[in-house]
Amino acid sequence: MTENILIAIAWPYANAEIHVGNLTGSHLPGDIIARYHRLKGNNVAMVSGTDAHGTPVTLRADAEGISPEEVYKRYHAGFLELFQKIGISYDLFTTTHTQNHFKVSQNIFLALKENGHLYAKKSMQWYSPQAKRFLPDRYVEGTCYICGAEGARSDQCDACGNVLEPEKLLNPKAKTGDALELRETEHFYIDLTKLEPDVANFLRERADHMRETVLGESLGKIESEGLLPRPITRDLDWGIPVPVEGWGEKCLYVWFEAVIGYLSAPIELSAIQSDPDAWKAWWTDPAARQFYFIGKDNIFFHAALWPAELMGAGNQFMQLFAGEDKPLTLPYDVPANQFMNLEGKKISGSRNWAVWGRDALTRYDPDALRYYLTVNMPETKDSDWDWEEFVAHNNNELVANWGNLANRVLSFGYKHWDGQIPAVDPASLRPADLNLLAQIEAGFASVGSLLDAVKIRAALSEAMRLATEVNKYLDSAAPWKEIKTDKDEAAKTIYTALKAIDSLKVIFAPFLPFSGEKLHQTLGYETPLFGKQFVETLEDDLGTHTALRYEGIGGMQWKPSELKPGAAFNKPSPLFKKLDKSIIEEERARLG
Ligand SMILES: [Zn+2]
Repeated sequence: MTENILIAIAWPYANAEIHVGNLTGSHLPGDIIARYHRLKGNNVAMVSGTDAHGTPVTLRADAEGISPEEVYKRYHAGFLELFQKIGISYDLFTTTHTQNHFKVSQNIFLALKENGHLYAKKSMQWYSPQAKRFLPDRYVEGTCYICGAEGARSDQCDACGNVLEPEKLLNPKAKTGDALELRETEHFYIDLTKLEPDVANFLRERADHMRETVLGESLGKIESEGLLPRPITRDLDWGIPVPVEGWGEKCLYVWFEAVIGYLSAPIELSAIQSDPDAWKAWWTDPAARQFYFIGKDNIFFHAALWPAELMGAGNQFMQLFAGEDKPLTLPYDVPANQFMNLEGKKISGSRNWAVWGRDALTRYDPDALRYYLTVNMPETKDSDWDWEEFVAHNNNELVANWGNLANRVLSFGYKHWDGQIPAVDPASLRPADLNLLAQIEAGFASVGSLLDAVKIRAALSEAMRLATEVNKYLDSAAPWKEIKTDKDEAAKTIYTALKAIDSLKVIFAPFLPFSGEKLHQTLGYETPLFGKQFVETLEDDLGTHTALRYEGIGGMQWKPSELKPGAAFNKPSPLFKKLDKSIIEEERARLG
């Protein structure tokens, strides 16, 4: 049965490049799960986009003396390049600065308002008489009045995670250097207290398959602290206008609107593909499974606040937007990852303590990076990128176990059977051959069920274990000896090993799509395993924006090899490169 699978990945802010911690935190795990479901023949939409709005972007624009639009477009272009080069196969990677996203976000706001979940309230906000404007959140920093941490934003303290009331901030200072005064302003709030029981139930219903770390940061927090009302608008002119008369000067808060991108992006994708109702497969089918790939700092927004927005909108969003009386589908899982550190220290862009995705790809192959980022994925606890470990995992596992296995069997077969799969009668296979093929075949279920449960590290480790089994089989059958005494026996061994490798190629493909495709082509297949990524320029009332797209190929390919005896294949070449240990010190010298 074809399942509708939404792969929703955290929207990166357009104020910094993407580093390895971001990749392993959200983009890569999302891509692996999306590729797996596509191979299974499921109906997948993998979406995200650049978070173009908010003060991180306007602050940088102010600092550089350019427009927020120029800032977001610059980073967005870098993201598109990175995702293509490392194979993060978004069906649509768009931006929040589109007419479509504006409209969908405003409709969510209106649905919440009509359902009585919003109220307006006056409060005090920092104001710059010099610039004649309010200075929201990140524009003003000071000391947290709850925990005493320095550098707290006026609306939130990252040290203790509390939402702050701007007027209570201690020693407030404007980032722009402007003098500050408090002035009264008015904002819309979402009444989360009213939605709290629904959100708590939503999480309890999913407790059997959600990670402990995620439940702790969502349900645990709600049970201990409750859900408090939160402002969803603010005084800023770069963003989505509040769709209420007299409120056009204010914008929807980014925390509120960026998550709506998980809904607006599939809607935009459907429009691009001229299949305007396609998004409903992921958003109104109650059986659709939505997976949200994010870092641990984003858990509360995705596991508590986003479901609150969806449940608060109720049937009203579909009424307003599509004239249908039905609710939106709620998230199935939020498999948030912990953080990846670098050489024992927290990754920091400003201190250049980072491995940047685009930069690393100028020196290393995408699958080498993907492999290390997967074996080291911070699924349950923080992990550490260590250059010595990178070289060791690449050389001892990727090259020595899997890459050499494929290369030596293909080379040996190509040489001794004139570029053909040995023409063996499958009925003549020996017990050891059949035993190996049965073990590899079982891998589709074992690796598949781990990927189904988003246990990505365990899934890759199981795939590597299967490669080890093929190596053991070859060591014991020793075809390089067999061929000297009985070529028919050697043919059975090589045929069996090639079939196992052909199956393993599919099992490894979600993790290692580039080498998978290469091996697939070497084995003589004409249709690729995966579709193509490309950049498209789109236009709407706000102007033009570029988007990363993926054109899939249908069919169910997550199944054991059907390699035909006697079929021709192509001359092989190594799948991976062994890395010299000298890179360890070279790379460490680049840091800091
Ligand atoms: Zn604090």
